[in-house]
Amino acid sequence: MKNKYLYIETFGCQMNVHDSEQMAALLANIGYKTTDNPNWADLILLNTCSIREKAAQKVYSELGRLGKFKEQNPDLIIGVGGCLAQHLGTKFHKRVRHLDFVFGTHNIHRLPEMIGSVQKKREKITNVDFYKSLNSIGIYAPPVNGSISAFVTIMQGCNNFCAYCVVPYLRGPEMSRPPEDIIKEIKKLADNGIKEVTLLGQNVNSYGKALENGLNFTALIKKIGKIAGLERIRFTTSHPRDLSEELINCFAEEEKLCEHIHLPVQSGSNRVLTLMNRGYTIEEYMKKIDHLRKVCPQISITSDIIVGFPGETQKDYQETIDMMEKIRFDSTFSFKYSERKGTAAQKLAGKIDECEKQQRLKFLQTLQDKHTLEKNTELEDSCQEILVEGKSKNSANDLTGRTRSWKIVNFKAEQELAGKSIAVTITKAYLHSLRGKLMEEVGNVN
Ligand code: SAM
Ligand code: SF4
Repeated sequence: MKNKYLYIETFGCQMNVHDSEQMAALLANIGYKTTDNPNWADLILLNTCSIREKAAQKVYSELGRLGKFKEQNPDLIIGVGGCLAQHLGTKFHKRVRHLDFVFGTHNIHRLPEMIGSVQKKREKITNVDFYKSLNSIGIYAPPVNGSISAFVTIMQGCNNFCAYCVVPYLRGPEMSRPPEDIIKEIKKLADNGIKEVTLLGQNVNSYGKALENGLNFTALIKKIGKIAGLERIRFTTSHPRDLSEELINCFAEEEKLCEHIHLPVQSGSNRVLTLMNRGYTIEEYMKKIDHLRKVCPQISITSDIIVGFPGETQKDYQETIDMMEKIRFDSTFSFKYSERKGTAAQKLAGKIDECEKQQRLKFLQTLQDKHTLEKNTELEDSCQEILVEGKSKNSANDLTGRTRSWKIVNFKAEQELAGKSIAVTITKAYLHSLRGKLMEEVGNVN
């Protein structure tokens, strides 16, 4: 059989990255090998994001560029999936003429069928139906050669309807995967050399709520903790309202659960949090942070923050800055509010000028950089366990890995250590990484 090549580009979050891995795995079954070169491709897929307007614009401009390959090769098939595809549906074909098919967030499992149909009939296809079952998230994606970490989707969709967010409209209502399926998948990954899994969901704390006799999220973590060969467990994302005491305590009790939590706060102002429909006050959020730090003093805490939400006054913004000074996050992803069609926030008064949003973002990011560097510097001279990922991208002589607290460490080593857990001493802290020195006794390599 002649080799067929798939070129796939992913925009957006980890959920999309993992969806793309699943697409590649599914298409490998019908003979597609992945390539980094669109010139070679028989099939181009764009897995899109529409969380903010900027993400959507990037997709359009990339589709414009990739259209040129179709001029050179009329047999080339181009498809778009993900959130923007779910949002636009058939309208995507009107906007971008050279598309062959559009598939939504619940339709990944139908890819082989759609491609077969395009090849046969050369008609434009759109599949953006929502399903009541989890067809698309149970697809097993074998680890890419040499990788030691893998994503595992444990649920899809979201019921929260935060006022700014399109996710509940584009990924549908919350659905949890049965625990047996998750455990089976992770066992298979561990048998194939995976040492670390990141459990994915928009709100992992509500895992299992709609399952009959299902486990809750803490019980699921404890079960996963028993899987032989697996060394580290991470998860994202946690909703602060649903972060239970039981899960917080799990950071002290479950050895494999890494000391890092991503807990998006979004704003430090109670007025704005109410407008955002987040379901917690800043005092409640801080109490959970205190509790996390009490049970697990070495935990790193990261967050998401939106500036310039409609009606955000200087006072509200200052409350966000004050909250950051009090908490001192290890790092944050911060965004200018981006208006999304159909969301509750679109109807709110008090839209903030772009220039003002930009200024607020810049000040906030400068403050965060200061905190991140301070937090990283606190680790100098400490001993850290690193799971080695392989060669560093920036220097051929260095290896790279992450601490349990999710910080990147680069270090020199003569040995082949990829996939091993080793101990290093942190010798220098930078903003985006740490420098480490392998501890003498490499006897502590697992
Ligand atoms: N489910 C997760 C949560 O609730 O934290 C993450 C969802 S979203 C993929 C990641 C982040 O994008 C959000 O935490 C929020 O900060 C940001 N975001 C979502 N919608 C946005 C919008 N309309 N404008 C700016 N930022 C937005
Ligand atoms: Fe969007 Fe809120 Fe759901 Fe996160 S919890 S995906 S921000 S609606």
